[in-house]
Amino acid sequence: MALVSPPARAAGITAVASFSVLADMMRRIAGEMVSVTSLVPADADVHVWQPSAADSRTLTEAALLVENGLGLEGWMSRLSAASGFRGIRIVATDGVTPRTMRKGAATSIDPHAWQDPRNGVIYARNIAEGLTAADPVHADAYRTSAAAYVAEIEQTDAWIASQFAPIPPAARRIVTTHDAFGYYGARYGIEFLAAEGLSTDAEPSAKAIAALVAQIKRERVRTVFLENMTDPRLTAMLARETGATVSGPLYSDALSKPDGPAPDYISMLRHNTTLFERAMRPA
Ligand SMILES: [Zn+2]
Repeated sequence: MALVSPPARAAGITAVASFSVLADMMRRIAGEMVSVTSLVPADADVHVWQPSAADSRTLTEAALLVENGLGLEGWMSRLSAASGFRGIRIVATDGVTPRTMRKGAATSIDPHAWQDPRNGVIYARNIAEGLTAADPVHADAYRTSAAAYVAEIEQTDAWIASQFAPIPPAARRIVTTHDAFGYYGARYGIEFLAAEGLSTDAEPSAKAIAALVAQIKRERVRTVFLENMTDPRLTAMLARETGATVSGPLYSDALSKPDGPAPDYISMLRHNTTLFERAMRPA
């Protein structure tokens, strides 16, 4: 006997997030009321995403689009225009105080604001407002679930701070592939070093790598970290050159797949924190 596929559930609105962290936040707040799609999937790099025709069709049909902003999705405006998207567009970082980073003469805005949970709270509130605007019938439900989610993010923030409390200031140094943890470092008093800059769209120069190798040796950093969505060869090379141990992967700009260690925003924060704490804990 052939199995009959179940009838499609009467769907509410459809919403699109630019990348997996925002899609998870939206699912947490919207529950079953909204069908959420992430343009950039788990374990993929949002900085250099090349939208497909399917992405364009997904956006055409959406009532709501949530993007990070701060220059993370350089490809979004062209995609949105090409798709004929006419829904409500929300920038999750609205109201966040942006960090800037100097590299030589240039100053760049750091887009990785979600790595500070206090910004995660701002994201959650902006997403709840977007959902309410796109689907006012469920406004009360969005408000209630957003409040519960915000409380959970705040508890996670307090837990992270408590994990690092015993780490002496001199040990608070972490080496990653690209500069994705500036907000996290500012929140918890950790210095993050990386060979690549705020984006992953350019290879680091030989000079930048040599300077980082020298710094790792000088400051006796014991661990260098892989990230889930970047090339592992750079980290392997740093470990070879310095004698440091390779750890990770960290989840910086993308969640893991559902069976991985960071399938949602809060697990991402907890997973990264556990690895950082272990790397900095005095031997
Ligand atoms: Zn990044």
